[in-house]
Amino acid sequence: ATPTAIMVGTGLGAQRGVLFKNATALETSARIDTVVMDKTGTLTKGEPEVTDVLVEGMAADDVLALAAAVERESEHPLAAAVARHATEQGAPALRAEGFRNVPGHGAGATVGGRRVLVGNARLMADEGVELGALAARRDELAGGGRTAVLVAVDGRAVGVIGLADAVRETSAAAVAALHEAGVEVVMLSGDNEATARRIAGQLGIDTVIAEVLPGDKAATITELQRSGKRVAMVGDGVNDAPALAAADLGIAIGAGTDVAIETADVVLMRSDPLDVPIALTIGRGTLRKMR
Ligand code: ADP
Ligand code: MG
Repeated sequence: ATPTAIMVGTGLGAQRGVLFKNATALETSARIDTVVMDKTGTLTKGEPEVTDVLVEGMAADDVLALAAAVERESEHPLAAAVARHATEQGAPALRAEGFRNVPGHGAGATVGGRRVLVGNARLMADEGVELGALAARRDELAGGGRTAVLVAVDGRAVGVIGLADAVRETSAAAVAALHEAGVEVVMLSGDNEATARRIAGQLGIDTVIAEVLPGDKAATITELQRSGKRVAMVGDGVNDAPALAAADLGIAIGAGTDVAIETADVVLMRSDPLDVPIALTIGRGTLRKMR
């Protein structure tokens, strides 16, 4: 593109808080045919809240107190929500020892001499915990778009905690605008498949890649590129940074983590998903002026 077109495009973006870091970012925006969007914190607000505490063979307050003791040691947004809920419910504050974080799966610790695990079904499977009657409760929560966090004590599944994370107001409109522009939209998530599919359905997204481990997000992008797609990745988290770097165009949510913002080619200062189709439109306009 000509220097003038680049200046105009950059200026148009800046007016809306869409920051293109360089001329290449603007030019690449014009050529994107696939947009991969992270679920948590990108399409959703990233502020999960506990909605359900379902238990089996143990009182809900005890399950909550044990889970919260572990989650207070974790920096995961789900962990913060569980800990906050326990405090609000007046559950006793217990001390955790030997905390262990299992990225993409959950966490564990010893609480009052008992071995407590908090995380997804894969964590439970890896630790040899059978879900029993809680499997059906978990499926119900996931089918309703809730993130389901399982709790096990001394190798026995005792509870499942449901969490809801509201979608951003403009997520569905952003997906519709991208489809209108002929761009394919893919949801990428570390969350459970059923949960991710339910939320994708609400937003009009038909391709979902779920249960992706933090370290595998970038490889997912590379695979799409190998199949001939020109991929933009939109994300907010530390986990998303390698995928933002691997994509043809990395787009960071302004409210996201510093690592994501530093790695991205474009930053959406208003954290508005609608600014994704707008960024691509500005890119296309810039390229047209070049001809
Ligand atoms: P996302 O991509 O959804 O941000 P992560 O890759 O961080 O998720 O985690 C994937 C899944 O692992 C979560 O949806 C959750 O089920 C589980 N998980 C990870 N860490 C924790 C934790 N501290 N407490 C409960 N569950 C967790
Ligand atoms: Mg995220």
